[in-house]
Amino acid sequence: MVLISCKNCHKIYEKENYKEFTCNRCNHKVTKRVPNSFQISFALLICAMLLYIPAMIYPMMEITQLGVNVQSTILEGVISFLEMKSYFIAIVIFTASVVIPLIKLVGLFVIFISLKINIKMENKTKIIMYKFIEAIGKWSMIDIYVVAILSSIVQLDEIFNIKGGLAATSFGLMVILTMIAANKFDTRIIWDGK
Ligand SMILES: [Zn+2]
Repeated sequence: MVLISCKNCHKIYEKENYKEFTCNRCNHKVTKRVPNSFQISFALLICAMLLYIPAMIYPMMEITQLGVNVQSTILEGVISFLEMKSYFIAIVIFTASVVIPLIKLVGLFVIFISLKINIKMENKTKIIMYKFIEAIGKWSMIDIYVVAILSSIVQLDEIFNIKGGLAATSFGLMVILTMIAANKFDTRIIWDGK
């Protein structure tokens, strides 16, 4: 007899063996390990890491004022808030758009790499890191909200217009890919090594 839990709704089943079956509570396919979970998550994470670069170096916002086009990257935005002495907003944007995505990318990368090469780290530490990364996931879209709200409020074409720049697309994609990478990852793999 083996015990196996549904990864979606956490219902526990007592089964003869680890053969696949469908959860009778949520219709989720219950497997011993999610197939190819590591490969898919790792590939998505690499894409997300690459997208972090354009998200930082290209303009997040394009502001057109009286026909004059001004573009600003995330960091330029933070600096201009600091210059306006809006320290709180500057800190919130810096944390949400620069620090949190970086923590998530590096955190997942360390967890994934530790499964392949020997890094001295407790499995419990990896699980805590993973839970933390999952929990802060929804807080990293603040910048996109700001751009989306501003551009939907201010639309006066050549007089005053705000548009999302190339970085906004990269940033949004990066956040989504990181979330899918974390979500697709079967944490039970962590315990397979040792
Ligand atoms: Zn279920």
